[in-house]
Amino acid sequence: MAPEPHRSRTDQVLLRVQGLSKHYALAGKQRLQALNAVSFELADSRTLGIVGESGCGKSTLARTLMRLVEASAGRVEFCGLDWISQLAKPQRLQRRWMQMVFQDPFSSLDPKHTIGKIVREPLDIHAGNQSLAQRMQRVHALLATVGLTPSDADKYPHEFSGGQRQRVAIARALALEPRLLIADEPVSALDVSIQSQILNLLMTLRQQRNMAMVFISHDLSVVRHISDDVAVMYFGSIVELAPAAELFEQPAHPYTRLLLSSIPKRKQPAGTPARAAWPEVAGAELPDPTKPPAGCAFAARCPQAMPRCLHDTPALQARVMPALQRAALVACHLFEPQGAGHIVSGAWDT
Ligand code: SF4
Repeated sequence: MAPEPHRSRTDQVLLRVQGLSKHYALAGKQRLQALNAVSFELADSRTLGIVGESGCGKSTLARTLMRLVEASAGRVEFCGLDWISQLAKPQRLQRRWMQMVFQDPFSSLDPKHTIGKIVREPLDIHAGNQSLAQRMQRVHALLATVGLTPSDADKYPHEFSGGQRQRVAIARALALEPRLLIADEPVSALDVSIQSQILNLLMTLRQQRNMAMVFISHDLSVVRHISDDVAVMYFGSIVELAPAAELFEQPAHPYTRLLLSSIPKRKQPAGTPARAAWPEVAGAELPDPTKPPAGCAFAARCPQAMPRCLHDTPALQARVMPALQRAALVACHLFEPQGAGHIVSGAWDT
């Protein structure tokens, strides 16, 4: 059995994803491309935001990492483990190191169970050597951690607001002390006034517990608020990956620039994420995932497309930013090849 991963904050790679793809077989010989050769690395205790419009593959990425769906190709290394091929039955206990918070706090909690039972469930499965009293003590501590009270353990999900339910979901996800929390649109079902509370809670917990986080959202402003680094996804692939500040201040990919131009400029109270609408580009839509185009998938929407873009698929490669002495990644022919490089969220290597 692999050793427990250490807990210190370092720039050590916690999660390494290489060429991860997911295709679904359809009737006939058709197949739907949901995820296409996604690669990135995430350092210990860092937050990688993943942003993209509906259908870009970000939720498929989360579910594939969690092994809720099986990858079609690629490799995932997590805590030093070959997460896909080695995570067979004897190692299932290690699944506790990666936990997920889902989008909809209304459907992710079983309405028949009390909050105490819902939060305790992972402990019942993985910490059966502890007495019931010990597990309930832990449940009460977890509820306090997320801003609820021990007496809430006796209530049912319908007695809580959306924000409170998401707090319960977070408490359950934390029960097994994960190394990595995957949060898939965790605030998009909540009122704007509640969103910043949940975002702040996630940021505080990530820091206190030295967890890493993959934070998925369609909302650019939310991602900027919480992420160390940001990956922009389009049509199943990462098209740009950079530190959050650099991505928002010096976007490279035409798609990223388009997205940023859509963020409302109106003033918001401090800490309030503004909802960003997804832009429509000359009426064009995402390509048909059953018929991936040759060349750059963004070509039909790109104001800077060149003839080459229609047949030559751009690779994700290093974009050197001299003023910053750092590098980011971008998949676009507008940027001359700078040599192979890769980004670790929190540890740079170019
Ligand atoms: Fe636009 Fe070409 Fe860059 Fe694709 S590769 S984003 S079509 S310029």
